[in-house]
Amino acid sequence: MGRSGAGYRTIKVDERDNVAIVVHSGGLRSGDLLDNGITLVDDVPQGHKVALHHLPADAPILRYGEVIGRAANDIARGQWVHEGLVNIPEPPPLAEIPLTVHPAMPVDPLEGYGFEGFRNPDGSVGTRNILGICTSVQCVAGVANHVVRRIRQELLPDFPHVDDVVVLNHSYGCGVAIDAPAAIIPIRTLQNLARNPNLGNEVLVLGLGCEKLDPRRLVQDIAKETILELQDEAFHGFQGMVDGILELAGRKLARLNQRCRETCPASELVVGLQCGGSDAFSGVTANPAVGFAADLIVRAGGTVMFSEVTEVRDGIQLLVPRAADAGIGKALLREMAWYDRYLELGEVDRSANTTPGNKQGGLANIVEKSLGSIVKSGSSPIVEVLGPGERVSKKGLVFAATPASDFICGTLQLAAGINLQVFTTGRGTPYGLAMAPVLKVSSRSDLSQRWHDLIDLDAGRIASGDASIAEVGWDLFRMILDVASGRRQVAADRLGLHNDLVLFNPGPVT
Ligand code: CA
Repeated sequence: MGRSGAGYRTIKVDERDNVAIVVHSGGLRSGDLLDNGITLVDDVPQGHKVALHHLPADAPILRYGEVIGRAANDIARGQWVHEGLVNIPEPPPLAEIPLTVHPAMPVDPLEGYGFEGFRNPDGSVGTRNILGICTSVQCVAGVANHVVRRIRQELLPDFPHVDDVVVLNHSYGCGVAIDAPAAIIPIRTLQNLARNPNLGNEVLVLGLGCEKLDPRRLVQDIAKETILELQDEAFHGFQGMVDGILELAGRKLARLNQRCRETCPASELVVGLQCGGSDAFSGVTANPAVGFAADLIVRAGGTVMFSEVTEVRDGIQLLVPRAADAGIGKALLREMAWYDRYLELGEVDRSANTTPGNKQGGLANIVEKSLGSIVKSGSSPIVEVLGPGERVSKKGLVFAATPASDFICGTLQLAAGINLQVFTTGRGTPYGLAMAPVLKVSSRSDLSQRWHDLIDLDAGRIASGDASIAEVGWDLFRMILDVASGRRQVAADRLGLHNDLVLFNPGPVT
């Protein structure tokens, strides 16, 4: 990322843009010459924007060919366009977005790619073979954690074909208004988490016995013998409970252990996409490479899911025309409107999304962050829209409405049925999920060098000109197949770094 030829490298994304970002690690100084012939009149940090022309006060500031804000003052050519100089525009009014749907271009099929996965009785395919312990209430978490430690130490070594045992602890289940309309979201999330393809349709459910959320509601279509309640009179004391759970876990493990990986077409992939700790490079390196790989998966007949409502809200006018039909366009607008109201109730708006790290990384506001974020979705038509916690039913590109919070989005995508997640980061996060491999892609080479054992793929090579978007996209696609097959371990799994499940509960707590 050094000086290239006649000046320091900058990246301008679209012909119409009147700003470009500085690539040089450590940033540049006033007086430095850029590759576009401009001399800087300010010091500019890495990833931050430089004005390519004189911008009078109130002039639109364009990045990705879209208006990311208006100039707060007169801005000179070569000046640093920091967040204080960018007034955020109003979000696109939902009622004015036309439901014009462009006919989807015929997809050029991509054949001959597959992975070694675990076929489930319900037709889904897992990339891991995990014993899941579902819980109906937080009261049982301590016992559940104890049992998981015991299973890992005492039982798992006897079942070499089982990858892990994972407890699905959460804060829901009691002390909540269980009949509130919004309760549907956490409840269906828990029901669909139990059906995640990586749990092999073989979960064990742990309840207390007096909670509001009946554990039977979590596994309506799974055998009744999967449920244990700690208040069951058959259990004498803690030891009795633990013995009972270990005995049932042993039977479950024996069944899971009979499963083997078999060759499955790439169309069985269900890949969730997410970003966290984004910077100004995310939208020009990692996210476009992920978008390229997303298109490859869709061409291979697979499913790709993108999410994070507050990070698509400001680019929704670009997504609605990609809906496969007008009903899907309407569903996209419905999810945006629902979230607008949810934020209004909390007396904030979508600008509450950006973090101090996003801004230090060069993202002036949520509009700039969103435009870089939606690039992950590639160019395929959107074939389904899921409400929070709903399970996917179609193949192709799907929008699963979730908050942008990494943990809540991860939990909701697991409920929606992902068997693998791709996570892009600019600032860096050690994020991981216990239930599905998370493949982390860095937007900058500096980060993947410094975090050499935490990042799985470096997309920063695109910024330095050492690789194309297509090359990194193909690398990612092949890596996804390797990880899905269990041939390659992602950094988070190798190091055992797994975040908690966090439910989205927009309903009242009592
Ligand atoms: Ca996120």
